[in-house]
Amino acid sequence: MNMRERVWILGVPLAPLTAEEALATVAEWLRAERGRTRLIFTPNAEIIARAQVDPELRAALAGADLTVPDGIGVVWASRFLGTPVPERVPGIELLEAVLGLAARQGYRVFFLGGRPGVAEEAAARLSARWPGLQVTGTHHGYFGPDEEEKVLENIRAAAPDILVVALGAPKQELWLTRHKEELTVRVALGVGGSLDVLAGRVKRAPQLFRRLGLEWLYRILRQPERWRRAVFLPRFVLAVLAEALARKRGRE
Ligand code: UDP
Repeated sequence: MNMRERVWILGVPLAPLTAEEALATVAEWLRAERGRTRLIFTPNAEIIARAQVDPELRAALAGADLTVPDGIGVVWASRFLGTPVPERVPGIELLEAVLGLAARQGYRVFFLGGRPGVAEEAAARLSARWPGLQVTGTHHGYFGPDEEEKVLENIRAAAPDILVVALGAPKQELWLTRHKEELTVRVALGVGGSLDVLAGRVKRAPQLFRRLGLEWLYRILRQPERWRRAVFLPRFVLAVLAEALARKRGRE
């Protein structure tokens, strides 16, 4: 992602791309020679608010090759601050599009994350949907620091083109950034709870909620333990308002 093309929201860069353009960018990286690993993250308002108080997370997001706005709050903020991104690009939709591409073009995929069994279930369901899909490895996301080397070795042995990391945010962003140099994959995506959805364990919000930009509310209602994380939402709004004020003063 070219620096000049990025939009900055509270110190976090975002690519001003439609979902289709984001997929085209990933497709290009997959076609390119195997070189360095490109990191793709999908921050929402909660993550951007967390990044305000977590310098390592902020650096991880700033160092990514592609970041797309997963949440409606981020799209709102980008418009409010006068540097709009075209649309919301839900992480799960980008992931599904990338997996569809992988199935058509024969790219190898590795799933890392979720409770034991989830990655395998997701792989089985997706292979039924796209018989050409090659999931060449899976590993659950509950490993300790002493198992890290083994997990990295598993990934290298499976030689995937695409690494899907579902450790939840901000764990996946930090993990991928720390281990980027030890990975020999073309692209790695941090996808939060998407493997749970693809495995059929968690349902996505109905279309009505999605259309109204209320997918986040649906998730809180279905998983009430998420309320604790919602404290980041008012913080996000306040930080955006403060930033808008600062930018206005800067212009005067
Ligand atoms: N997870 C994991 N290892 C951990 C913590 C979480 O693999 O140490 C998984 C968890 O099983 C779930 C996902 O990470 O599949 C986090 O889901 P969530 O919906 O909370 O994603 P977020 O909204 O944080 O991106």
